[in-house]
Amino acid sequence: MYRQPWSALARGVAVLLVLASCSGVGPSPPERVAYSTFEKYLHEHQIAQVRISADQVYAKLNDGRNLVAARVSPDIALELEQYGVEFSGEPGYSSNLMLWLIPAFGIPILLAFGWRGRAVPGTGTAAMSKSKARIYTETSTRTTFDEVAGVDEAKEELREVVEFLRDPATYGRLGAHVPKGILLVGPPGTGKTLLARAVAGEAAVPFLSINGSEFVELFVGVGAARVRDLFEQGRAKAPAIIFIDELDALGRARGANGQLTGHDEREQALNQLLSEIDGFDPSVGLVLLGATNRPEILDPALLRAGRFDRQVLVDRPDKAGRVQILEIYLGKIRLGSDVSVEDVAALTAGFTGADLATLVNEAALLATRRKAQDVIAADFTSAIERILAGLEKKNRLLSAKEREIVAYHEMGHALVALTLPGVDRVQKVSIIPRGVGALGYTIQRPTEDRFLLTEEELENKMAVLLGGRAAERLVFGKVSTGAADDLAKVSDIARSYVAQYGMVGEMGDVAYDRQHSHFLPGGQPLGWLERSYSEETAREIDCAVRKTVARAMKRATSALEGRRDLLDKGAKALLAKETLSVTDLQDLVSLTPAKTPLHHEYAPAAQ
Ligand code: ADP
Ligand code: MG
Ligand code: ZN
Repeated sequence: MYRQPWSALARGVAVLLVLASCSGVGPSPPERVAYSTFEKYLHEHQIAQVRISADQVYAKLNDGRNLVAARVSPDIALELEQYGVEFSGEPGYSSNLMLWLIPAFGIPILLAFGWRGRAVPGTGTAAMSKSKARIYTETSTRTTFDEVAGVDEAKEELREVVEFLRDPATYGRLGAHVPKGILLVGPPGTGKTLLARAVAGEAAVPFLSINGSEFVELFVGVGAARVRDLFEQGRAKAPAIIFIDELDALGRARGANGQLTGHDEREQALNQLLSEIDGFDPSVGLVLLGATNRPEILDPALLRAGRFDRQVLVDRPDKAGRVQILEIYLGKIRLGSDVSVEDVAALTAGFTGADLATLVNEAALLATRRKAQDVIAADFTSAIERILAGLEKKNRLLSAKEREIVAYHEMGHALVALTLPGVDRVQKVSIIPRGVGALGYTIQRPTEDRFLLTEEELENKMAVLLGGRAAERLVFGKVSTGAADDLAKVSDIARSYVAQYGMVGEMGDVAYDRQHSHFLPGGQPLGWLERSYSEETAREIDCAVRKTVARAMKRATSALEGRRDLLDKGAKALLAKETLSVTDLQDLVSLTPAKTPLHHEYAPAAQ
C-alpha cells in the first residue's frame, strides 16, 4: 500500500544494474536449509548476499555462514530487492536468471510499451515461455501451523488433510472422505500460500506448486504440458501436495466478458487441469490445494463436485487473531517496554497477516534509523500511520485557502465525533497530506472489533462522516470535492440502514436488500444485491435513504453550530500545528471523549 510506485521501466533498469554488478558468493560449503529458513533470515535482515540458480538459492549471512535452499518463490527478486539484499544469478546460468526475471520485470515493461499479445521477435517470446509456469518442488517444507495465526477455523479444516497425508492408507478405511480439491479463499495477504505450505510441513510431504499467474502469456501447448507435468510429478512423489496458487489467473471463466484473442493457451491449460483433476486418485495420498482471492471469477467447472468442491475461508484476522499474529512477529525483534500487543492490535483493524508482518518490519526499520536499542510504541504508531494513510508527501503543497478548508473539514469530523456519545475516540487529526487521495485525516481509535451496531451507533457514524462537509458549509457557505469519499461511505451506511437492517419505521421490518455471501460456491461477488421489490418500493427506499442522510447532516450541523467558536479555535490550532493529538484536542475542547468503540477512517486511505 505504501510501496513506492516504481515505474516498470525503472525496475527493468534496476535489474540490469544489479545484473551488471553480479558477483559470486564465498566458496565454503553451504549448509542446506528449508526455504522457509532462508526467508526467515531474509526477514530478519541477516542475509548479506544472495546468488540464485534455476532451482537453488545460495545465501551468505552477515555472520559469514553460507546456506543453500531449494528456490520456492518466483517473486524472490522482488523480495530481495525489498530487503535491500544484493543478489546475483548463478555464474553460467545467468541466461536462466534472465529467463525467470522476465516474468517479474519484463512483462510490466512490455505492457508499459503497449504490448498486447502480439507477436514479439523470436527470442523474446521463447524466453518468456520457457521461464514461466515453473513447477516449484520443495521436499522439506518446515513451515508449521504455528507460523500461521489468527485463522483457526481454516487450520481446523486443514488438519484433516494433514491427518490424511500422514497415513493415506488407513485413513480411508475409517470411512473418512478427503475431498480431492480444497480451495483456500480470502483476501490477499491473509496467509493462504503460507497455510498451504504449512499443510505440507505438518504432514512432512513434498510440496509441488505452480502459480496460475505464470500461465498468462505462454505458447500454446506449454501451459497444458506444465499442468500435466505437475500432476505427473505429484503422482510420482505421493503422498504429496499439489498447490496451484492464484488459481483465478488460470481458471478464470472461459469466454467471460467477450475477451479478445490470446486466451486459447489459458483455456487449454484450464482444460488440461480439469481433466487431470478428474483422473486424479486421492487414495494414493495426493491432495490438491488451490488459492484465490477472486473465487467469483473462477470457471464454474472448477468448482463442481469432485473438483475444488470444498472451500476454506481464510479471512482477515479479528483482534484476537491480530494479537496472535503480532506475537509471532514481535518475538523476532527487540521490543521496548512501552509496547503493548493489545494496543497495536487495537489500532490495526482490517490489517491482514501480511500487513502486520510489514508493520513490525517497518517499525523495526524506524527504530534502526533512530539508532535505538529497541522498538518503542511510537515506532509502531508511525508505522501504522504510514501504512494506513500512505507515505507522507512532503512536497505536496496546498494553497493557503485549501489548507484552511481542509483544517475546517477535519476539525468538523473531530468535533462531531467528540460531542456525540458512543463513537470512537478521536486519536489524531492532521492536515499533513499523505499519499495521493487524502488531504487530511482523522484517526479514531477503536478499542475492539464490532460486529453488531445499534441504530444509534449507525446514526452517529453517519453524522461523524458528514462532519467534514457540514463544517465546510457552515464556515464557507459552500462545499468542496474533498468530501466525496465521506459521502460514498455515508450513502452505503444509509442504504443498509434503510434496506438491509430495517431501521426506518415506515418501511417496515423488511430486508429489501439481501447480501449474498462472497464465498458461496458459485456465489455472487460481495455486494451483489438481490432485488425483490417493486419500482415503487425502490423509489421509497431512495427517498428514505435521502431522508436518513439529511437527518445525519442536520445532527452534524447542529453539533457544530453550537460550537462554532470551538470549530474556529480548532481549525486555527490545526493550521498552526498541522497535527493535533488526543491530548491537544482534549485541552482545546475540554470535553471527555466518548469511549464506545466503533471503527471508521474518515480520510480516503491512499491506495
Ligand atoms: P496470501 O497467499 O493469502 O496472499 P501469504 O501467505 O502470501 O498471503 O502471506 C504473505 C506473508 O504474510 C506470509 O509469508 C507471512 O509472513 C505473512 N502472513 C500472512 N498471513 C499470516 C498469518 N495468518 N499468520 C502469520 N503470518 C501471516
Ligand atoms: Mg498467496
Ligand atoms: Zn472527510
